Amino acid sequence: MKHLVMLGAGHAHVHMLSTLASQALAGVQVTLIAPYPRQLYSGMMPGFVAGHYAVEDCVIALSPFLKNTSVTWLPRSATALDAQARTVTLDDGSSVPYDVLSINSGPVQDRQKIEQLMPGAREHALFVRPIEGFAALWPQVLAMGQHKPLRFAVLGAGAAGFELACAISHRLANASVTLVSGEATVGANYPLAVQTKMLRVLKKRHITVLQERAVAVAAGEITLASGARLACDVPLMAIGAHAPAWLRSSGLALDEQGFVAVDAFQRSTSHAEVFAAGDVATRQDVQLPRSGVYAVRAGPPLTKNLRAVLAGVAPSPYPPQRKTLNLLSCGDRTAIASWGNWSAQGRWVWWLKNRIDRGFIQAYSRPA
Ligand SMILES: Cc1cc2nc3c(=O)[nH]c(=O)nc-3n(C[C@H](O)[C@H](O)[C@H](O)COP(=O)(O)OP(=O)(O)OC[C@H]3O[C@@H](n4cnc5c(N)ncnc54)[C@H](O)[C@@H]3O)c2cc1C
Repeated sequence: MKHLVMLGAGHAHVHMLSTLASQALAGVQVTLIAPYPRQLYSGMMPGFVAGHYAVEDCVIALSPFLKNTSVTWLPRSATALDAQARTVTLDDGSSVPYDVLSINSGPVQDRQKIEQLMPGAREHALFVRPIEGFAALWPQVLAMGQHKPLRFAVLGAGAAGFELACAISHRLANASVTLVSGEATVGANYPLAVQTKMLRVLKKRHITVLQERAVAVAAGEITLASGARLACDVPLMAIGAHAPAWLRSSGLALDEQGFVAVDAFQRSTSHAEVFAAGDVATRQDVQLPRSGVYAVRAGPPLTKNLRAVLAGVAPSPYPPQRKTLNLLSCGDRTAIASWGNWSAQGRWVWWLKNRIDRGFIQAYSRPA
């Protein structure tokens, strides 16, 4: 019997799991390595912070997928991978052999790397990843903020930093919020028209933007590259979508940032029995941003290819779409939409985002 090991319960694996109850994999033993019994949908975290959603609204429970299938769930994290020996090591020291491995464990905020850039960050900052950790800590921060006005500094002004800064200022009217964008402008990966809209939102919300690098974090303050010090009760770390450190010694071909290099089949370029999808992987044939949209879209083709190789059939290439609809929530029930160079803003965009996000959760919450 072949053994498929699914490492991580990211978006693509949730899709694969959802198909197993109705279409079992004959002659295949399936093991899922995932530390939590649910997948927290990061796209809804800003809405959770803003108070539009309870945490339960943002989760896909894994148990319905596991109940009607023969999937073995190991509630652990992977800490090492030996692609030569075909084994995954878990955080309890045990190891799991595989014939086919699929990795969908997302990015990490590498504490060691961030600590080197900003000494003190590890001890004093609140990190957005792992999302489970952030979701568990946010209610405590919220309770503090409801008791006394807090000074927040959100470090990183990409989509997550922007959305979280807006969400905090919406939720805690007494808080002061500063968005520290490093050397980059706010929303640097977005077209200029979107960046302009983001800046307007920040101004309207009285969120201060500092286009400067933070170089140290201490209790009650952040030091900036200029030497200026920013008083701050809650430094929120929204920078960094790093590759997990355990990939480095795996023997798998990696890109220059340490993510799994995959081909048009979402298959490792060095090991044909290893597949990877979502933010942990980098397609070598096409340039794609790391985003939840692509991670979700990778689910059906990854599922099809895993089924194919396990049945001894050749996998099919997956050409991802070049443009995607990006939706940025602005704290209140408004949002910014962009599609290539087109962009728009308003309540209807938030309505659309809410509908898409809730629809995604519901689609995977129905029993198969
Ligand atoms: C606050 C915030 C808001 C965002 N909003 C958006 C948005 O609106 N739109 C968008 O497109 N993108 C958004 N993103 C980016 C998005 O989160 C990622 O691109 C997306 O989550 C990547 O999906 P994934 O399936 O690759 O991994 P993930 O969603 O990170 O899932 C990985 C899973 O693997 C598990 N795992 C991790 N390490 C291990 C391990 N060692 N062993 C076993 N399991 C492990 C994790 O617990 C998790 O369940 C946002 C990110 C943040 C932080």
